[in-house]
Amino acid sequence: MPAPGAPGVPPARPTGVTPQLALRVCALYPDLMNIYADRGNLIVLERRCAWRGIDFTLSASGLGEPLDDTSHDLFYIGGGQDRDQRLCAQDLLETKRAGLAAAAARGAVVLGVCGGYQLLGHSYTLGDEEIPGVGLLDVRTVREDAPRRIGNVAIEVALDGDADGARVLAGFENHGGRTYLGAGQQPLGRVLKGFGNDGHSGLEGARTANTIGTYLHGPLLPKNVWFADWLIARALGIAADELAPLPDELERETHLDARRAAGV
Ligand code: GLN
Repeated sequence: MPAPGAPGVPPARPTGVTPQLALRVCALYPDLMNIYADRGNLIVLERRCAWRGIDFTLSASGLGEPLDDTSHDLFYIGGGQDRDQRLCAQDLLETKRAGLAAAAARGAVVLGVCGGYQLLGHSYTLGDEEIPGVGLLDVRTVREDAPRRIGNVAIEVALDGDADGARVLAGFENHGGRTYLGAGQQPLGRVLKGFGNDGHSGLEGARTANTIGTYLHGPLLPKNVWFADWLIARALGIAADELAPLPDELERETHLDARRAAGV
């Protein structure tokens, strides 16, 4: 058994006191699936936990490394070039698909950004080639003979149902693939500005329970810390308003800047 404190192992908890919250994050292919500084998303998760006294551990799972589905609360896969996606897709299927599916089924958060989003679906088709995905989201992506979708983007999302009202995620998209949702697949949100999944459906991203895919880079979480908190809370199994509030003036300005860039 790995020693407490080793990557992915939560620290031992003292008994008889309020349990210490601990978030255990696993980044999939952080060296290959990481364009537009998607690493910033992980730093935001780490900082917002640290500022609240929540234990945070980050481990990585790269090519050839099996994935331990019970040792993490949140799995993250960033964006990538087509050639790197090919390598990762093969490895995801061979060494990580079962673990990731088991983790998602027990409620772990799985977040895929852009190329990572595409790999969470069934397939990414480029001409005659089909790169298979893990199929956690009922989406298919096709690289069509059309310009890349590039620019600032803002979407409206209602994560906890309409009761909480819709909120805005702002970011930047750059993808050649167009993503099409299966008949019953819920999108992540509705496009306010930008292209989103395919440029014409008005839909962006996909969500099934705690598995989420989106085309928003930016990086996503520094521009939308409210969403980072929502993910942290989901991964910890608590409500977002149970997280201690943070002085977010700078973060709110950053969010508004990203919205202004998208024209929203
Ligand atoms: N390679 C994929 C595409 O072009 C994803 C790009 C990305 O992750 N930004 O559609």
